[in-house]
Amino acid sequence: MGVKVCKFGGTSMADGNIILTAAKIVKADPERRYVVVSAPGKRFSDDIKVTDLLYKCSDEYETGELAAFENTFEKIRVRFFNIEKGIGKDVRMSEELDKIRAEILSGAGRDYCASRGEYLAGKIMAAVLGVPFVDATELIRFDEHGALDNHSFDIAASVLANYPKAVVPGFYGLGVDGKVKTFSRGGGDISGSIVARAIMASLYENWTDVSGFYACDPRIVRSPKCIEELTYQELRELSYMGANVLHSESIFPVRSAGIPIRIANTFRPEDAGTYIVKTFTRDPKEYIVTGIAGKKDFTVISIEKSMMNSEVGFVGRVLAVIQKHGISFEHLPSGIDTMSLVLDNAYLKNGMLETLIEEMKEAVNPDKIYTHENIALVATVGHGMANNIGTSARLFKALAEANINVIMIDQGSSELNIIVGVDNDKCEECIRAIYREFFN
Ligand code: ASP
Repeated sequence: MGVKVCKFGGTSMADGNIILTAAKIVKADPERRYVVVSAPGKRFSDDIKVTDLLYKCSDEYETGELAAFENTFEKIRVRFFNIEKGIGKDVRMSEELDKIRAEILSGAGRDYCASRGEYLAGKIMAAVLGVPFVDATELIRFDEHGALDNHSFDIAASVLANYPKAVVPGFYGLGVDGKVKTFSRGGGDISGSIVARAIMASLYENWTDVSGFYACDPRIVRSPKCIEELTYQELRELSYMGANVLHSESIFPVRSAGIPIRIANTFRPEDAGTYIVKTFTRDPKEYIVTGIAGKKDFTVISIEKSMMNSEVGFVGRVLAVIQKHGISFEHLPSGIDTMSLVLDNAYLKNGMLETLIEEMKEAVNPDKIYTHENIALVATVGHGMANNIGTSARLFKALAEANINVIMIDQGSSELNIIVGVDNDKCEECIRAIYREFFN
């Protein structure tokens, strides 16, 4: 019998009713033995996530706005009281909240404060399921640089060996200073992945409010196809380009152990969801493209120089310029006498673009250097592309027919993706054109 880890996101913990649904899902399968939870999220679009309220509390405490702090803390109290009422069980929310308030007011810190949504959600889920609550500080450790300490897997494995079933709060662990430390936002997904890896789960189920990973952003294409299966590598490519169902770092712990992830919908548990696996099992003839994602606001710096290819260290000198300013590049397409650097606009504010150009002129004395600002990168991702002749021809024909000018092309060496650069305002049209070609 396998062992499954279920992680429930914020919308699956947002009120008493949905928590009861989540508990029903867990109980429906005896293999679902470990549960990781997020803090209660939004119940409706204008709602405020508990984690956001907690960050607000922390800011108000830090700036000495104590009346505002009390006001915000009261909102958190009301959220948890309502949940307690909704599940129909006394889970001592009042006492827990009093303790938390006192800890914050005695300077427990920002991460402690932010983590309490998960802590309380964990206590609630443990009570509803009738299984032990195991605090994340007992399992997950951070190193002196604030990154995940890889000993966490062994620590978590030995602690959880004492619990055939448990509920663990997501999003935090213990820092080297002995205080609570959180992951970046959305980091509950990473906690779930760590628990899955520690117990060598047969499956890591990530329960959320969508029925899987869509082939592209549903705000751009209406009702896009839900992807049944994608590889870790395809997921990395798509999440890096902005498709965010899972925290982009959450695949690392499970990927090294080959544990599959299933994205499932708490609100439609009967839907199959998306499986994220190590190796591709689909027929590449049927699944050429897995997904399309786009990201805006990049700048291309193009450099031309005759005989660039025979000038030893040319690219190194160009890269040394961006390195000196702490800038990393996104892509580096090149030709015989040309190279282009694709940089995120976020790095290029306050005259940085002009500085880089001046320094590059000095470093490599180019024949020509010019920029193309405000471009969007659109990635078409799929293992099937490597085996299907004519895929890029179809893609570029579709873009030509939609009258979209392609500014830059880059193809990853694994033939897993084709990235095109288009003007920012053509990003959505570009995604729609590619979707039509490969999915309609
Ligand atoms: N509650 C945290 C957040 O809102 C972490 C999570 O939900 O995974 O970012």
